[in-house]
Amino acid sequence: MQREGKLLKPLVEDGKIKIYLHVSDLFAENSWFVLIDTSLFLIDPGRGSRSYLEELKNKEHIDMIQVLLTHAHVDHIHDLMAINSEKIYLHPAEKRILLDPSLNLFEQLSISTAFSEQINFEEPEKLRSEWKAIHTPGHTPGSTCYLLVDSYLFTGDTVFADSIGRTDLPGGNWEEMESSIKLLTQLLQKKPDLLIFPGHGPVATAKHILKENPFFSQ
Ligand SMILES: [Zn+2]
Ligand SMILES: [Zn+2]
Repeated sequence: MQREGKLLKPLVEDGKIKIYLHVSDLFAENSWFVLIDTSLFLIDPGRGSRSYLEELKNKEHIDMIQVLLTHAHVDHIHDLMAINSEKIYLHPAEKRILLDPSLNLFEQLSISTAFSEQINFEEPEKLRSEWKAIHTPGHTPGSTCYLLVDSYLFTGDTVFADSIGRTDLPGGNWEEMESSIKLLTQLLQKKPDLLIFPGHGPVATAKHILKENPFFSQ
């Protein structure tokens, strides 16, 4: 039970916003649970995020769940179909990856999957006003970063604290990644205190990334 108490401590508490983290046992993927009042925005439902959500429901009053996908690799979408959400946000360029088990890497890990063509995806641009979606292709064609109230940036596998995502998987593209890094550099330079929540590894400030991440620091 001690473990539960520890797991259910938010990393961030900022007015009506709370951010919880669940780290998956599959590639240590970070699933971010962002609570704004009673609305939950679940970024990347990795393996184990469904049971974490059940635990969270015992602690927090949640009356609406929406899922935001940074991209559609297996480690980030493993529990997607097990979560009862009102909406799923995914960049249109990523749908092909999600629906093809050889592209989303379920096949390579011999994990069975069934994502139906019928899932209704919302375009990330349609998120409510606290959020801004930034299309950052490179790791995959539809990779998207999500900026929350100009203070928190969820980067999936595009940017990590000290590195960036690989571009050698299906749909990856180094030139696109370079442009995405340029775009994000401008944002990070404007907001040095911005907190970056990546798809793997620790949280970092924009300042840290600009100085220590070799793909950003000149
Ligand atoms: Zn990935
Ligand atoms: Zn990943």
